[in-house]
Amino acid sequence: MAESLKIILSPEEITQRLKELGEEISREYEDKPLVLIGVLKGAFVFLADLMRVLRLPQVEVDFVRLKSYGFSDTSTGEVQITKDVELPLKGKHVLVVEDIVDTGYTLAYLKDHLLLHEPASVKICCFIDKAERRQIPVEIHFKAFEIPKGFLVGYGLDYAERYRHLPGVYEVIKK
Ligand code: 5GP
Ligand code: MG
Ligand code: MG
Repeated sequence: MAESLKIILSPEEITQRLKELGEEISREYEDKPLVLIGVLKGAFVFLADLMRVLRLPQVEVDFVRLKSYGFSDTSTGEVQITKDVELPLKGKHVLVVEDIVDTGYTLAYLKDHLLLHEPASVKICCFIDKAERRQIPVEIHFKAFEIPKGFLVGYGLDYAERYRHLPGVYEVIKK
């Protein structure tokens, strides 16, 4: 099917916002050793940029990969971990770095899973919050942008594995 892309966030807007977000996160964790956990694949670009604007002495990085069973673009309650965390998390301060929070099912599941490792804290940072679409409540502690609707690509986000490499964020307009 033919589609076109409409620009939603320019690379400059993203860079500007990430500087502010980096400050917020750095204030929160200035005296706490931090573990960033990126949710693959979508969050890898955001995590890479975010970690480089943090002013913190100690940051560790790990990744998880989740598969959610849903129809096409939306997830349902069923989530499976296909790649788990490898770093020990016990007693550590964990910040989950996610691309988009939509229904909330994915993050609700992941947060419960991470709590089994007995970390000192688990907070959530997302690149885009689609707050109006939430089906299950999840507390988002840090967010770069709130965008209510539309299927978004670029900056790590894909549409059938395409467009992750684009430096800005676009809405897919189906023709
Ligand atoms: P949910 O919060 O519904 O469980 O799932 C959110 C996940 O679905 C996101 O982490 C992201 O991977 C994917 N997702 C939700 N909305 C979009 C979107 O607009 N574009 C892309 N590429 N993925 C999305
Ligand atoms: Mg995701
Ligand atoms: Mg995807």
